[in-house]
Amino acid sequence: NGGDSDAKNLRVKLVLLGDSGVGKSCIVLRFVRGQFDPTSKVTVGASFLSQTIALQDSTTVKFEIWDTAGQERYAALAPLYYRGAAVGVIVYDITNPDSFSKAQYWVKELQKHGSPDIVLALVGNKADLQDKREVSVQDGMDYAEKNGMFFIETSAKTADNINQLFEEIAKRLPRPSP
Ligand code: GDP
Ligand code: MG
Repeated sequence: NGGDSDAKNLRVKLVLLGDSGVGKSCIVLRFVRGQFDPTSKVTVGASFLSQTIALQDSTTVKFEIWDTAGQERYAALAPLYYRGAAVGVIVYDITNPDSFSKAQYWVKELQKHGSPDIVLALVGNKADLQDKREVSVQDGMDYAEKNGMFFIETSAKTADNINQLFEEIAKRLPRPSP
């Protein structure tokens, strides 16, 4: 926890990992700005965006979201990026089986080298492309369950399940004692 977390207001570092092109930047922009731009080369940059959500128990969670600007291609840089992260969101594209294999690589990497109490979520994105689906819901669910992760399918394009993803993560965060 960084400086201004307390029992009612958490501040957490969240990193996104996954193959290039699976929609990580689009998920962040949909969540933070409510936008989807299919044409622009989405580059959030090396810095982070943040977004605060309120939970029903009147606590708030401020996500400091670290999105890569293409560094996902350089596995050696990853430890710098996920160091100290409370949350790892590992994204694949449901139309791309290679991206699902790569997601499994990132899960293992974070289990081995991430923070010991890290909350991990597995996200199958581009769920709007049902006719091009190549990774079944069951395969995603089974893998996540075996690895004690939260699983959800999303669409940054239609906004389906984007807020739910972050709300479910927020509910699973370890709480500091009051
Ligand atoms: P990143 O490399 O993982 O950050 O991927 P981007 O966010 O840059 O997205 C890569 C491409 O996938 C872009 O052309 C997006 O428009 C497209 N994309 C992202 N999310 C979705 C989605 O949910 N549905 C569809 N159909 N396309 C998406
Ligand atoms: Mg990106």
